[in-house]
Amino acid sequence: MTTETLSFGTDVGRLLDIVANALYSNKDVFLRELISNASDACDRLRYELVSNKKLKGNKEESHIRVFVDTDTRTVSIIDNGIGMTRQDLIDHLGTIAKSGTSAVMDELSKSKNKDNTLDLIGQFGVGFYASFMVAHKVEVISRKIGEKDSHLWSSDGQTGFTLETPSKEQQELIDQSGTVIILHIKDEACEYLIEPKLKDIIETWSDHIDVPIYLGRIDEDSDEEETPINEANALWARPKSEISEDDYRGFFHHLSMGFTMDEALMTTHWKAEGMIEYTGLLYTPSMRPWDLFDPARKHAVKLYVKRVFITDGCEDLMYPWLRFLRGVIDSQDLPLNISREMLQTNPVLTKIKNGIAKKVLKELDTLSTKEEDKFLAFWQQFGSVIKEGLYEPTEHREALLKICRFSSTESKAETVSFKDYLSRMKEGQDDIYYISGENIDTLQNSPQLEGFRAKGLEVLLFKDTIDDFWLQSVPDYESKKFVSVTKGSIDLNVFEPSEKSKDKTKKTPKTSKKVEDLITLMKETLSEDVSDVKISTRLTNSPSCLIAADNEVDLKMERILKTQQQYEASGKRILEINGTHPLIKKLAGDIANDHTKDAAYLLLDQAKIALGEPVTNPTEFAQRLNYFIENGS
Ligand code: ADP
Ligand code: MG
Repeated sequence: MTTETLSFGTDVGRLLDIVANALYSNKDVFLRELISNASDACDRLRYELVSNKKLKGNKEESHIRVFVDTDTRTVSIIDNGIGMTRQDLIDHLGTIAKSGTSAVMDELSKSKNKDNTLDLIGQFGVGFYASFMVAHKVEVISRKIGEKDSHLWSSDGQTGFTLETPSKEQQELIDQSGTVIILHIKDEACEYLIEPKLKDIIETWSDHIDVPIYLGRIDEDSDEEETPINEANALWARPKSEISEDDYRGFFHHLSMGFTMDEALMTTHWKAEGMIEYTGLLYTPSMRPWDLFDPARKHAVKLYVKRVFITDGCEDLMYPWLRFLRGVIDSQDLPLNISREMLQTNPVLTKIKNGIAKKVLKELDTLSTKEEDKFLAFWQQFGSVIKEGLYEPTEHREALLKICRFSSTESKAETVSFKDYLSRMKEGQDDIYYISGENIDTLQNSPQLEGFRAKGLEVLLFKDTIDDFWLQSVPDYESKKFVSVTKGSIDLNVFEPSEKSKDKTKKTPKTSKKVEDLITLMKETLSEDVSDVKISTRLTNSPSCLIAADNEVDLKMERILKTQQQYEASGKRILEINGTHPLIKKLAGDIANDHTKDAAYLLLDQAKIALGEPVTNPTEFAQRLNYFIENGS
């Protein structure tokens, strides 16, 4: 018999370290992980048997068996699923194959805060390695379907693992295919050698598992039919009335594949009937998955056909803007032997995809009226993903717009819907005003908003990069155009001042000759930097602000394009000044002063700072500022 010793991939070593040190709070989950793997293995075998004709054979019913041996102080978990080849054992149990895991590991080792560590782990689960929380040695005997030989993998969870040929007795534990996991229980985890304890854990965590789970060794002498300790019935296929909250929760945790502390924020379980029949059980998590914005991330909805698992992460099943959902779609109409490649062009799938989107958006809308707090919590986590859906022209745009919420000058919290906005529009207002920037605080203090506030005009505050993109494909809402307050020639003189406003004058006073001369001087001075200098109708407290010309891109969009290097020369902006501001009046009265030009530069620089942009020349900026501080004028 040959024994080969191999070492773990680097990530595994680090992961095991964390498992051993940080996760003692809930050791029970090791069993959930192993049962979850066993049930996946049974699912995969069922798929293999229907799709691979060469494998025809008398396959017995899937099952999982858990038993304790107090003499050897071991717990064994056996499944008759797909099994693993020698290479599978090396690849799946010796390295971490999942993409992105490495990045998470980096985060984990950086994080000092233990709660945070648990949260992060919860997002991807440590899966099989959870065994080492309770075992000082783990043996895995496995035989892949269609293969003659089985292999024994064993490890103490320290540096590496060995591979050898299993003993005859061990080989006999596996029939046609499957896997046996033998955990040599640590002294401090001896409670797991008590069968009722294991039963309790299985009932808590794994009741929804589709495959029957038996506890105890097979009793060869008994004629009685053994009963599994779980329902062994696909949860989504059961009638809703027979499913408890705990069942739903357990299944969510099973799907989340790990130590997730997260609870589902919304559970959507429905049966679509009519032209196309399918059952959906979809969970909206309450926490963002850590890799939500990783382009390589796939959604986590599994596709089944008539209870047989086909694939997960299938792009044609789910709009990318719903990629935070977890769950199952089980179709009645797709052929059972459909290959994963054939799914792509299948029209049934497109219909299901739209059915899912419609259902989920409707449920979210209902949530927003019935349980607003919950909905707003959802929106905080996933609003920026949902909004990606506005960019593409789909039949769901209207439903998407209906659930969008934003901050505005009326509400710092992201609670304002377009409907709310429309209901508060002022007389004579034809457009929906917005300002777009990097964060709400800066936006709220933007000088460009002053005039709008004074007139009681609400302005939506767009803080997500995606907002600037969807705005390009959605020009209006209920025929009200979206208009950026940092753009173009909005004439605020047509609106009455608001009740609250101290300044009751409707119109900006006529510009005096002196101010006009100042403008001429500023235009000359700043001709390299701005395309025009104008009197503003949108300023009340600040002396100056920048806006984009009507035919130019919005200021924030310009910044985005610049950082993505898709945009070279910046279109010149317009500097607006406040003709009634004491500072402007003072400058206008002293136009011959040499330092008025410096003041012009400072007015431009402060307008840039208000946008969160750097000043053009920091040294000159400081020199000019110092001059005015020193001389007090
Ligand atoms: P995950 O289940 O999230 O993929 P795990 O660490 O739990 O991660 O398992 C790693 C991999 O090992 C699985 O993806 C699977 O390929 C393989 N595996 C684990 N347990 C079994 C089993 N009982 N039968 C077949 N393959 C298994
Ligand atoms: Mg797993």
